[in-house]
Amino acid sequence: MNRTHKVAILGSTGSIGRSALEVLQSHRERFELTCITCHQQLELFEKQCIEHQPALAIVTDELSPSTRRWLDGSDPKRMRRAAGSQAMIQAISGPEVDIVIAAIVGVAGLESSLAAVQNGKRLALANKESLVVAGQLLLASAKESRAEIIPVDSEHCAIFQALQCDRPGVIDPHTSVHEAATGSIYPSVINASESVEKIILTASGGPLRDWPLEDLENATIQDALAHPTWSMGRKITVDSATMMNKALEVIEAHWLFGLEAEKIQVVIHPQSIIHSMVEFRDGSVIAQLSPPDMRLPIQFALTYPERTSGPAKRMDWSTSQALSWYPVDPDRYPALELGFEVTRRGGTCGAVLNAANEAAVELFLLGHIRLTDIAKICRSVLQHHNFAPTPNLNELLEQDRWARHEVMRWNRSLC
Ligand code: NAD
Ligand code: MG
Repeated sequence: MNRTHKVAILGSTGSIGRSALEVLQSHRERFELTCITCHQQLELFEKQCIEHQPALAIVTDELSPSTRRWLDGSDPKRMRRAAGSQAMIQAISGPEVDIVIAAIVGVAGLESSLAAVQNGKRLALANKESLVVAGQLLLASAKESRAEIIPVDSEHCAIFQALQCDRPGVIDPHTSVHEAATGSIYPSVINASESVEKIILTASGGPLRDWPLEDLENATIQDALAHPTWSMGRKITVDSATMMNKALEVIEAHWLFGLEAEKIQVVIHPQSIIHSMVEFRDGSVIAQLSPPDMRLPIQFALTYPERTSGPAKRMDWSTSQALSWYPVDPDRYPALELGFEVTRRGGTCGAVLNAANEAAVELFLLGHIRLTDIAKICRSVLQHHNFAPTPNLNELLEQDRWARHEVMRWNRSLC
């Protein structure tokens, strides 16, 4: 990379967004921050504007009175202020952005992910929900525009790195991520190289990993949010407690690397040091290790195919560290199987599972349902939905609305 790359961070006030700002801060000579967005938390957002001085700042929640007040603020260094998701789409579609860091949580991030790939940008993708809901559309669009989708999710970043071993020779920086990782520009059609036996996604097991099974239904919101190794947003932290996060990551891996469900395995690895592994046909296993710190995969997605030093924590080889892993108990984590089921069935299943989960997690965080209800609700909504094998975007969004409505009906029936 010789010239400065212009970067937009969508969701800069979130856990990934804040880490992304730290990465950019330490690479000012390579990257220029041209746009940041958030939905709420305007006080923090204003501080970020003053400290990082983007050319454009956008609050997507355009109807809120506090956004109206924020729009009237005085602009540090002639920064432009805007509101609404259309302003965000317009900004990332134009020449002022080369790389989009997709760090919005939930299906709310889908439209901007699609806009980034349609316009041929590099998409540094943390928002796994985009792939879960509309993987086929996103990849087809990336194929057409030759946009790159580089995973930020730590497991997928690890797999992406391990798969480089399968491609001898120099990696062309203009090659799409799919080609670089799998030799195929369209991995949903052509599987990862024949020499890949399977990939192994690691899971921490979340905060309730060692609880007696019969106590799980009494887990409180605080219990579910007390993640042992990662500090993340509330939704993904609850997803880690139920292991829905890993279910979504199975679907994400399927789309990113063109692997069928049978070639994806999940193991519990409590230390969160091995971020995932690829097992090759000859029995060799290539893993990627580093302390749990999202600044590393974020930076990798920005600088790939180069590696540079950066702010992420490093392994301390002077201390002892034991690494362990063990199989997932399906009785403890019934949500995981849903990820494999959705990967096998495809079509509208990803949109329905994702929406049902988002709505159920919200209900849990409001104290309306138990943690253990989440997987039950998702299974039921998935089973009852009107399956379509090749939905377009409108049909996916329609299914998203239907699934959320179903979860609300479930909730009312409980009251
Ligand atoms: P978070 O809740 O901390 O932050 C979410 C961001 O999205 C905030 O800036 C918020 O303002 C914005 N946002 C929320 N609703 C929005 C809406 N309707 N429209 C536009 N913007 C909206 O979440 P997070 O933990 O940073 O996770 C972000 C994404 O990254 C998720 O998809 C998550 O699965 C993924 N991810 C996170 C981590 C992690 O370590 N936090 C790791 C891997 C993947
Ligand atoms: Mg992950």
